[in-house]
Amino acid sequence: MTTVGILGGGQLARMLALSGAPLGLRFLVLDSAQDACAGQFAPMVVGDYTDQAALDQFASNIDVATFDFENVPAESAHWLAERRPVFPSPRALAVAQDRLAEKTLFLDLGIPVPDFAAIGTRESLDAALIKIGTPCILKTRRLGYDGKGQFRIKTPADADAAWTALGPQADKVGLILEGFVAFERELSVVAVRGRDGEFRAWPITENWHVDGVLSASLAPARVDDTLSATAIGYASKLAEALDYVGVFALELFCRDGVLLANELAPRVHNSGHWTIEGSETSQFQNHLRAVLGLPLGDTRVLGHACMLNWIGAMPDANAVLSEAGGHWHDYGKQPREGRKVGHATLRADSTRELADALQRVGDSLDRREQVAPVIARLG
Ligand code: ATP
Ligand code: MG
Ligand code: MG
Repeated sequence: MTTVGILGGGQLARMLALSGAPLGLRFLVLDSAQDACAGQFAPMVVGDYTDQAALDQFASNIDVATFDFENVPAESAHWLAERRPVFPSPRALAVAQDRLAEKTLFLDLGIPVPDFAAIGTRESLDAALIKIGTPCILKTRRLGYDGKGQFRIKTPADADAAWTALGPQADKVGLILEGFVAFERELSVVAVRGRDGEFRAWPITENWHVDGVLSASLAPARVDDTLSATAIGYASKLAEALDYVGVFALELFCRDGVLLANELAPRVHNSGHWTIEGSETSQFQNHLRAVLGLPLGDTRVLGHACMLNWIGAMPDANAVLSEAGGHWHDYGKQPREGRKVGHATLRADSTRELADALQRVGDSLDRREQVAPVIARLG
């Protein structure tokens, strides 16, 4: 009996545990929150990632470790890696934890990125504003997620407000200024690399964000083969360079037909949730296979899929459940503003059927603005 340890007990850990059950796997989750939603399906060690007693208990009861959360302190990941196999490696995790290290690696590999500059002081912000220009975004280098730790600078006059908001964190988590990309699309590559170096990618996903939080994903994205091959080529190069093992997502902006890399998520990713029903093998299943050194599953799509995120509170399930290709995922979390509490995936054999299903669900749940950009793309 193999036990997979997961650092972090959110919905990603929960879906990993659900996906691993048919493989006969056991799980152990480490999270500081007693009511972490993965705990409904897997035993937990309740403790902080730096709590030595909790780490000891966790390490001694698992065969291999992986992450639901990328911001586990590097020292804890290293400590664990000395005792048990850890995938992805602490080195890959460290790069993906830091927007500056990440963007520097992208550039080294010939992957285009938005203009950026490291910011340490108010003077360096002023200098970078001149170099990069406005609009731009000041971001924390570490610990940001769902658009948190970001300040959008529309004109130079916003610099004071940006510094008031994020300057106090400059020493602790570091800051980076990025040029604002007026993209026509946001895309992601969700891919997996096995312990033996085998690489597979799912077809490209198009994503829509609202206030920095993912709202909807469409797969396969309606992009041409050249763009798709370029995006997957970037993901493959990155995975190779980091000797990455497991699933990851590369987030990309597409502006004037050119791809710019935004960030690397070193874990299963929200923009890959559609793979549960929309692909031969889900990202969760393939992540576990990769981490355990098992053969990877086929990443081909089954028709067309759209994932809709539920933020704050769950809507009524019936509108989705009454669709032929409707699938419901309730993470079992308490409602809270801005919190990802669940998602739905609609799957169909044609883009036309998918658009019709989205229209019905959008009307019925009064969420027309959430489905509208996807329907527009499906044409
Ligand atoms: P995630 O939840 O994906 O980890 P995050 O907090 O790490 O989010 P980003 O991915 O950097 O944040 O930004 C969130 C969203 O904000 C992006 O998906 C994009 O829509 C927008 N955004 C971020 N950076 C830029 C940029 N430089 N130009 C334009 N839009 C941007
Ligand atoms: Mg991120
Ligand atoms: Mg992101």
